[in-house]
Amino acid sequence: MSRVINFSAGPAALPEPVLRQAATEMLDWHGSGMSVMEMSHRGKEFISIHAQTEALLRELLGVPGNYKVLFLQGGAIGQNAIVPMNLLRGKASADYINTGEWSKKSIKEAKAYCKINVAGTGEASGYTAIPKQSDWKLDPDAAYVHICSNETIGGVEYHWTPDTGAVPLVADMSSNILSKPIDVSKFGLIYAGAQKNMGPSGLTVVIVRDDLIGNALPITPSAFDYKQQADNDSMLNTPPTYAIYIAGLVYQWVKDQGGLQAMAEHNQKKAAVLYDYLDQSNFFSSPIAREDRSLMNVPFKLKNESLDDAFLKGAQARGMVQLKGHRSVGGMRASIYNAMPVEGVKALVAYMQEFEKQNA
Ligand SMILES: *Cc1c(COP(=O)(O)O)cnc(C)c1O
Repeated sequence: MSRVINFSAGPAALPEPVLRQAATEMLDWHGSGMSVMEMSHRGKEFISIHAQTEALLRELLGVPGNYKVLFLQGGAIGQNAIVPMNLLRGKASADYINTGEWSKKSIKEAKAYCKINVAGTGEASGYTAIPKQSDWKLDPDAAYVHICSNETIGGVEYHWTPDTGAVPLVADMSSNILSKPIDVSKFGLIYAGAQKNMGPSGLTVVIVRDDLIGNALPITPSAFDYKQQADNDSMLNTPPTYAIYIAGLVYQWVKDQGGLQAMAEHNQKKAAVLYDYLDQSNFFSSPIAREDRSLMNVPFKLKNESLDDAFLKGAQARGMVQLKGHRSVGGMRASIYNAMPVEGVKALVAYMQEFEKQNA
């Protein structure tokens, strides 16, 4: 068996100990005689897995007691519609900050449910920087303010938390949740698809403050009504049981690494290996403003784009995969989530140095 160095943006590499444990437990989970995939979601075995997974997530993020943690289906793209359906609470509009491709998708989807005010935008910079809060035009009557905390495609990340006063802050954290400590109490709602930093696809985590739920639009499907799901421990419909189990193993792994502070240090060190190299190179470059660079998704360009294919081919030959940038931005992108070891990034930089020497 040989495993690649996987720079996929998502679904992404998982910690190897998690995959090994899942393999060991595949046919018989803890003497139950069943795979987790075969368990009733209402049986005591799965209920214990679900409870343990939620407890670990609450512990890692320090989720306050007045927040619900929901394990749903439908992905972050589903949440783009589900958030306004649940959080408008009789208000006519919501504020959105546009920092790139994922923000744009959120805005487009939410427009079906209310008036959207784009209160801040990174458009002038070509989405290579996060617009400063002092330039935002927030509406005090907005139902909420929506941000994408890490733009997976463009590679910009908030390294600060906006202050939206009494208006709830909503964040799509799909691609940087669990990469660093956050203060959950500063958010009204956090959502994230699992397949970047938490587990397999199929699971969407929603963390929402108690007082914001219970006022969903009448058209809201029951399975996507936060209040109904909260009242049913996320089991109004069959939850994505196997994905919840794997997420629980990932949470345990993060805890074993030392928790989110240790994760943040690991991620800073890892990203610095790549950015430091990019900054001194005349051959490769990073298009992103230094203070807004994502520690999770690192887009970079070859100055001579005609060498892109040769670069990717050489990477593939060295077992490094999924380095091609998103079609909307071109170039390269290395996604280096929690599960990517620093050795993986060092191997990439060693290859970049070698390629630069041969082609400069
Ligand atoms: C991957 C991603 C999504 C899309 O998630 P789906 O599971 O495909 O719905 C949305 N937002 C961000 C920031 C992402 O990285």
